Amino acid sequence: MITVYLDLDGVLFNFNKMCAKFADIEYPSNHAFTQEGFWIHQFMSEDDFHKMVMSKEEFWADLEPFPWADKMIDIADEVTEGNWYFLTTQSPVPECFSGKAKSIHKHFADRDGLRKLIICKHKELLCHGGHDFLIDDLDKNINNWKKAGGSYFQWQEVTDDFDPKKISDRLASLKVYLTSIKNIYV
Ligand SMILES: [Mg+2]
Repeated sequence: MITVYLDLDGVLFNFNKMCAKFADIEYPSNHAFTQEGFWIHQFMSEDDFHKMVMSKEEFWADLEPFPWADKMIDIADEVTEGNWYFLTTQSPVPECFSGKAKSIHKHFADRDGLRKLIICKHKELLCHGGHDFLIDDLDKNINNWKKAGGSYFQWQEVTDDFDPKKISDRLASLKVYLTSIKNIYV
């Protein structure tokens, strides 16, 4: 049996759009974000970003799911027969924990979201082999997961108006790959 771990920020939740709102900068259109550090750090120092953005409960609580979030969860749910979790890293402030819990409760209460929410900075601690499958945007998380022997699908963060056909192709690839991993670990 496989277990799927779904990242929140940049995969299911629109992290950069909320950053843009809090930092009062323009959110790009039809854009794929690169991995050269956080996008927002081009506009704001790390210290300011932490103070003005990431330490605010409403930043986390008001995050909106991407248009494809439900579809991605449906794929994980169907392939694993319900054996999936949200796996997200925290900022070291209590407001981040409560804000993340609120956004999950707001959008995914019908999926028993709060009991599927795992908050852990070192995601690889949850990885015990190829039957553990991570969907995440960040190189660092993917690399650590890979080192721990896990399976993964790197989901590059894109804007919410990104080409729906490309998103649909990505989701189809995810489903095919996930199913092939599941068939190894029956
Ligand atoms: Mg992420």
